[in-house]
Amino acid sequence: MLTCLDLEGVLLPEIWIEFAKKTGIDELKKTTRDIPDYKKLMQMRLQILKKNNLKIHDIQDVIKTLKPLSGAKEFLAWLKSEFQVIILSDTFYEFSGPLMKQLDFPTLFCHQLVIDEKGTVINFLLRQDDQKTKAVKALQGLNFKVIAAGDSYNDTGMLQQADSGILFCPPINVIKEFPQFPVAKNYDDFQKLLLSAREKLLG
Ligand SMILES: [Mg+2]
Repeated sequence: MLTCLDLEGVLLPEIWIEFAKKTGIDELKKTTRDIPDYKKLMQMRLQILKKNNLKIHDIQDVIKTLKPLSGAKEFLAWLKSEFQVIILSDTFYEFSGPLMKQLDFPTLFCHQLVIDEKGTVINFLLRQDDQKTKAVKALQGLNFKVIAAGDSYNDTGMLQQADSGILFCPPINVIKEFPQFPVAKNYDDFQKLLLSAREKLLG
């Protein structure tokens, strides 16, 4: 059995929201919680970066100041002692580096940015469309049972594909649209829901 976990909003703060706070650019506060179409959201973000002449190092400087959510490191250590864990995220390797160190380098599948020699973020390369759902499906193809958990719209595909899905601290609109998934409001709840999902799957 495997667990597939989202990253931002589950273990880490939302990187773009933190960056928006630092730069004072409110338009950058929109996330997959607000705009379900990830490509549209990213295109919008890149345009805002261009308009404000912000470079990759400006974002990385903010990321260096971030910490995992309170209790996330301990939760992840517990999770790894109970399950094999793969983090499926729509972030980029160019962002995640320093934060992965703080989480003891879990396995992370995410995307890549295209950056020119001046440090301008000119494009993004998604591993594939809807990689989270496809990764879960591929793991099931290897005869794993998968428990998936995340907080937002971009997780709902993998939650539906998984043998069991859990929402962690989601916004109210996601809870309303996806009432079939149990909701964890903190890491204690989350542990209980993960263990009971495993029990049910083992039958
Ligand atoms: Mg998230």
